[in-house]
Amino acid sequence: MCIFCKIVQREIPSHIIYEDESTLAFLDISPSTFGHTLVIPKKHYDTIYDVDQPTLHSLISSIQKVSKHIKNKTGCKGINIIQNNEEMAGQTVFHIHFHIIPRHEKNDFVIQYSENSTISLQEVYDLLK
Ligand code: 5GP
Ligand code: ZN
Repeated sequence: MCIFCKIVQREIPSHIIYEDESTLAFLDISPSTFGHTLVIPKKHYDTIYDVDQPTLHSLISSIQKVSKHIKNKTGCKGINIIQNNEEMAGQTVFHIHFHIIPRHEKNDFVIQYSENSTISLQEVYDLLK
């Protein structure tokens, strides 16, 4: 059983701040900012590729509820929602989860997108359209 399934089963402790029939939200054990929270489905799916549609709908609904709650309670000035899939993208726990990262100050969390000016948008468009 994975570590987040163990959290769902209460086999390991966590700070749960929201729960409904199919989702759970708990504090990240190693927070990037004050209030950093993870939202997961109670049922195990590895990544965004695997999760079914009804579960995804429940997840995004919980993410909105928890985000509003965090904003109300912490008075944060913004929120980033981040979701990593596969090792290349930084996924370390292979039970799908969404990070809710409240932003309190300008540089309290850095998302760095690198630019690649050699990419042809036409080529990408031809592939993805
Ligand atoms: P990822 O890099 O996979 O997107 O994020 C995994 C997150 O899970 C990390 O931010 C990490 O701190 C958090 N995490 C890992 N193990 C535990 C745990 O046992 N309890 C809690 N609450 N968070 C965890
Ligand atoms: Zn799991």
